[in-house]
This record gives sequence, C-alpha cells and structure tokens, in this order.
Amino acid sequence: MIVVKKFSLKKIPKKSILILFLCVFIGGLFLIRLSFSFELKGKNKITIPYQTEYKEEGVQLHFLHLDLSKKVSVQGKVNSEKLGTYKLTYSYKLGFIPVKREREVEVVDETDPVITLDGNMEQQICPNATYQEEGYHATDNYDGDITDQVEVIDEGDSIKYKVADSSGNSAVLSRSILKKDDASPTIRLSSGSVVYVKQGNAYKEYGYTAVDGCDGDLTSKVVVEGSVDTSKLGTYQLTYKVTDSSNNTATITRKVVVNENKTSTSSGKPGVIYLTFDDGPQSGSTEKILNVLKQEGVKATFFVTGNGPDSLLKREFDEGHTIALHTNTHRYEKVYSGVDAYFDDLKKVEDRVIRITGTSSKVIRFPGGSNNTISNKYSSGIMSTLRNQVEAREYVYFDWNVDGNDAGTCAKSSVKDKKTCVYNNVTKNLSKNRSNVVLMHDVKSYTAEAIADIIHYGKQNGYNFEVLTKDVAPVHFK
Ligand code: ZN
Repeated sequence: MIVVKKFSLKKIPKKSILILFLCVFIGGLFLIRLSFSFELKGKNKITIPYQTEYKEEGVQLHFLHLDLSKKVSVQGKVNSEKLGTYKLTYSYKLGFIPVKREREVEVVDETDPVITLDGNMEQQICPNATYQEEGYHATDNYDGDITDQVEVIDEGDSIKYKVADSSGNSAVLSRSILKKDDASPTIRLSSGSVVYVKQGNAYKEYGYTAVDGCDGDLTSKVVVEGSVDTSKLGTYQLTYKVTDSSNNTATITRKVVVNENKTSTSSGKPGVIYLTFDDGPQSGSTEKILNVLKQEGVKATFFVTGNGPDSLLKREFDEGHTIALHTNTHRYEKVYSGVDAYFDDLKKVEDRVIRITGTSSKVIRFPGGSNNTISNKYSSGIMSTLRNQVEAREYVYFDWNVDGNDAGTCAKSSVKDKKTCVYNNVTKNLSKNRSNVVLMHDVKSYTAEAIADIIHYGKQNGYNFEVLTKDVAPVHFK
C-alpha cells in the first residue's frame, strides 16, 4: 500500500517560512551588494599646494554591469587661493536608496619665506664697534611682507635672521661680521707737503692732523722725526708717523726748503704810478686798454688768469707790459681751500705765461688782496701762511694803495657814470710822496674808457708811469 502524504504549506511551521524569507531577502541583498560598486578614484584625503589647481579625479559607480559613474553628482568646491580643508561629497540615488562618498582636500602652504639683506652678506666693522643694522626684508608667498616678524639674533661673529610664516615654514639667513681694522690712519699736513723758509728765520711746525677710521682723532699720537737747520741752505725732510690701536701705521713726509733770505733792494719811488689791471685778459676791454696804453706810450702791469685768448696775453707781453700772476681760476673756494690748492692753481697760470711768452713771472697778486677775509670761509687763517709761503718760494706779491674801485662801488647799478667814478677814485688818491700802485680791472669796459683821462691827469701832474717787477718795493696791506 502506498501512502501518499499530501504536501501542505500549512504543515510547514510559520517560523521556518520566516527564516526562508529572510534567507531569500538577505541573499537578494547580498547579490545586489555583489553587483554594486561605488569607489573614489584617487585618495579620499588629498593635499594640494596653495595656488595649485585641484584636479577632480572622479568616482566609479557600477551596478549590474551598468557604469553609472557619470550620474554621480559632486557637492563642494576647492578654493586653492585660500588655505583650508574642503569636503567634497559624491552622491547618487540607487532607486530609493541614497549612496554617497566623501573626499577631503586640504590646501596647504609648503613654501618657505624668503629673507633678503640690505648691505653686504659679509661686513667688516671696527673691533670696538657694534654692528649697525643695514636692513633686511622677509616675504612669504602666502603671508606677504613678514619683515616685522623677523627675529634678529646677534651671535658675535654673525647676525642671524629667522622668520616663519603662518604655516610654520621657516627661513634662516646669516650675515657674517668681521671685527677688524686693517685700514691705516690718515695724516694731513696743514700747509702742504713742501714748505719754504728763509735762511736764518726760525722754522715753525705748520701743523697736521691724524684721523683713523676706527680710533678717531689721533693727532696727539703723531710722532715727528727729523729737523730743519735754517742756518744752512738746502732741503730737509720731516717724517710724520702715527699708529692706530690695531697696529696700522701711516707715514707721511714734508720737505722743508731753506732759501736765501733776499730783501728788496729798492725802495718805493715817489711820484711813480704803477697801473695794474687784474682778472684778464678779456676780448674787447683788454684790447681797448692796450690801444690807449700804446697811444699814450705808457706801460702797465697785467695780473692775468687762465681766462681770455692767448693772443691777447701775448700782445700784452710783446708791447712791453709786465705779465704778473693772479691765479688760474680766481675762484676763492678753490684757490683758498688749502695751501697746496693755492699753489697748484698759481702754477697753472704760471705755466700758461711761460707757454705763451717763454718767460716765467714771479710777480703775483692774491685774489681779493693779501689780507682778504673771504678765504677764512674755505680755510681759516690761510692768508698768513700763504703770505709767508709765497715769499719763501721767491714770489713777490703786490697789494695796492690806490683803488679805482671799478669792481667795487663803481660797478654798482646806481652809479650812472662809471667811467667818471673810476677816474675820480684814481686821481683823488694819487700821491707824489710815495709810489702809487693803482688797482683796476681790464675786464671792465668803463675802466678802458677812463684810462686815457687818468693817464692825461698823471702826465699833466708830473707823475711817471712804470711797470712792476720783482725788484720794485712791494706795496703790502698792513
Ligand atoms: Zn681779481
């Protein structure tokens, strides 16, 4: 007998059915999961440098062999111009189930700041000095100017500059400091490297100064060696020596020339007029004066400068006038800046005269006269040294005792008749009881016009006209 048991769901326990459904459901989910993938391309935490463009690498989303990557939407934005952490969210709705992935992008500054230094990277300073900061700058690609955050550390033989930006990137730079004095002091001789003294006169030191870049004034430490015997003609040498605290030495020498002590033999000739013309030659006015002198048969003395045409100076010489020296530039700030400067300038005009006339001149006149005070502005007390030195160098200097004032009061715009002004100044001050050295300027046209009348006055009143030479007793201001 066959027993057939009827299959009936009712006979399956409810609990088993529930388990069965659960298994099917879980299996289904498992299958879905197996056929579903959603991955970020690239890392989920990315770091990019400041100002570098973020490149989206995207995602991969597959479901049941379908590529749904392009349907994924991205929320969030990366601003590479601003440091920080940016969140990007990638999302998609699978049926009614939302799925998403996240990525963090951090914009960072990894560039070090830059320090630059003013002045030299290696600096030498005096041994006893402290370094005077020459300046520094610090800039950062993100923070901009961060100079005020630089830390300056004095390490003795170097100065260290340190700075960090807001992201902690740092920079260090050093300036090396060498404390050393290898420069010699400087000695200056007050009256130049050559001085002259007349035989028999006492030699007195003309003075000096010594200065050191590190030690300052060392004048009191100068040692002078050598001696001058003014009883014997000749050239003597004095040596000036000074040493600074770092043992650098300076040495300089001065020649002292002892000359013959000649005294002027002739005394002033009473009743003589020495017409003297300064500052030329000058085209026009000098020619006019030369023409009058020629016509009147009178000789004069021209204290010339470096100005004017050579031909005029030559004409003065050829027509028998004395060529005397008045300095080359006649610029007070130059000729009175120092003893050497004066003699350099004088030498230039002396050379000019030799070149044009073939003869040297030793008759000179100081611009402004031997007692001018304007020279003190450029070199205090220089005139007394110069008066002494020109004589020791065998020049003869002339001042004047009659002033035509053609460069002074007569030159003023309020004086209408300048010619008469010059004429009056000269004729009123002439004297028969002495020699008359008359100061005028051949660069003034009205002086040229006054000359004929002045000469006529002199002739009519019994004066003689002569030229200055080395042997004429000089007229000096007191
Ligand atoms: Zn002058």
